[in-house]
Amino acid sequence: MSVLKGGLFVAGLLFLMGFVADESKKGIKIALTFDDGPSHFETPVLLKILKKKKVKATFFLLGEHIEKYPEVAKSIVKAGHQVGNHGYNHPNFDSLSKDLMHYQITKTDSLIRSVGYKGEIVFRAPYEQVPPTLQSYLDQNGRTYAASTLNGRDWEVPPVTTIVKRIEKDVVPGSVIVLHDSAPKTDKVRERINSVEAARMLITNLKVKGYRFVRMDQL
Ligand SMILES: [Zn+2]
Repeated sequence: MSVLKGGLFVAGLLFLMGFVADESKKGIKIALTFDDGPSHFETPVLLKILKKKKVKATFFLLGEHIEKYPEVAKSIVKAGHQVGNHGYNHPNFDSLSKDLMHYQITKTDSLIRSVGYKGEIVFRAPYEQVPPTLQSYLDQNGRTYAASTLNGRDWEVPPVTTIVKRIEKDVVPGSVIVLHDSAPKTDKVRERINSVEAARMLITNLKVKGYRFVRMDQL
């Protein structure tokens, strides 16, 4: 093989290796999760985006929001997304007795069942506060805690691009991203629309980088 041919061969091989490496990145799984919903405005917009982009996500619902918007909750289930429990009315579990924890979790479980969800119901505490009493409650009842690993502090309602940049900066394989499609204890219309738009942008940008969005139970 001449030097030139050898050089071309090596260049071709390197090109191919790069190509293969890029292709394999398409298997890198991450999960998009949404807390505090359902809401009557943001959640339907979000569901349309997820459907168009063929993405399944995980929704941690509040019991009182399911009571308010059962049809929206049903459409989350119907679309094939994973559903988790985020408590009934978003209390800080740090300050709850075991009885009240039990009430918050079981009432929300039955509301989740009432909108047709059949899978295992994982739990994520409001503010992600997991005091020892909550951990022992979950252990005793064989419940799975579903923590997030990455957020864009979208509850501060920053511009869409700020939320996206904060998340893209730290995303790694297996990241569990949390955004919010509603706000607890308030019913302001469009309060979380920036989060929904951030989800749209993140899906587009991260898919190009080879990430694949899956439900938490598929990570
Ligand atoms: Zn929350």
